[in-house]
Amino acid sequence: MSGREEGLVIRVLGAAYDVQGPDGVVRCVLRGRLRRQAEGPQRPVIGDRVEFERVTPREGAIVAILPRRTALVRREPLDPSKAHVIAANLDQIVAVFSAIPEPDLFQIDRYLAVAEANGLSAILCINKMDLVQDPESFRSLFAEYEALGYPVLYTSAITRAGLDALRERLQGKITAFIGPSGVGKSSLLNALQPGLALRIGSINPRTGMGRHTTTRSELIPFDGGYLADTPGLRDIGVWGIRPEDLAACFPEMRPYIGRCEFSDCLHLEEPGCAIRRAVARGRISRRRYESYRRILIDQQAMRSS
Ligand code: GDP
Ligand code: ZN
Repeated sequence: MSGREEGLVIRVLGAAYDVQGPDGVVRCVLRGRLRRQAEGPQRPVIGDRVEFERVTPREGAIVAILPRRTALVRREPLDPSKAHVIAANLDQIVAVFSAIPEPDLFQIDRYLAVAEANGLSAILCINKMDLVQDPESFRSLFAEYEALGYPVLYTSAITRAGLDALRERLQGKITAFIGPSGVGKSSLLNALQPGLALRIGSINPRTGMGRHTTTRSELIPFDGGYLADTPGLRDIGVWGIRPEDLAACFPEMRPYIGRCEFSDCLHLEEPGCAIRRAVARGRISRRRYESYRRILIDQQAMRSS
């Protein structure tokens, strides 16, 4: 058999890859050059669009990876220049936090920054709203995120409030659910579709993989889109970000980037800093700026310890 076809990598199982082709799933190995580089950046990951050639109707070989639209890159917190791609072509992340106890806004800022560093749009999902006494005033806590352009969804896996809005956001998209453990990610997924959380390994803190398979990384079809599941997603909240990239991960800082006196300004103590000037003038929230500083300083402290 011959001829190249195009497909989507939906499962990575060690050396084998399941590729969703035009007529079903084809189990593939890597061919030639790709195999020799298998540990490098050219290793296919879930979400990659690839070219493959069939050997039998259901088996084949990946011969090329098509250019990636986005790449979810895990950077080592200790050395953000060290990075590896764990998923390609994701559209968005849903960052889930629990309403009670009241979420740490710094932690939210950190998750959003990692999403931005990877070029992904982020949706903030505040779950366990059934436990909130006064939802109206509670929501005002998150108004600043809406103002920054992040959609904020308020959900309850128990009363099912907000689930339709969440489902709508997932339609036709490749999405990863992230967030600290215990916030209700598995419960939300199961509320969307019974049994879904069982299939999501990254949500299962014990095994880090699907319960009944040896699957390592997977895209799970959902509502015309996919949910991305890869063990590496679990600790996204502590991924590193290159210091010089961090300001651009705060959308409200972008208009000021490049306007500082020093071109390598990290917006800490440097004179003539346009970002600190914008903070002083109330154009950037001090709280968000402090999150920026803290991410940068935490990383620096980790590296020098
Ligand atoms: P995960 O670690 O993020 O996957 O969180 P789980 O889905 O395992 O949920 C952690 C705990 O929170 C469990 O005891 C759930 O029953 C509970 N939980 C999840 N969603 C909700 C919710 O919307 N409301 C309430 N009251 N509890 C929830
Ligand atoms: Zn500056």
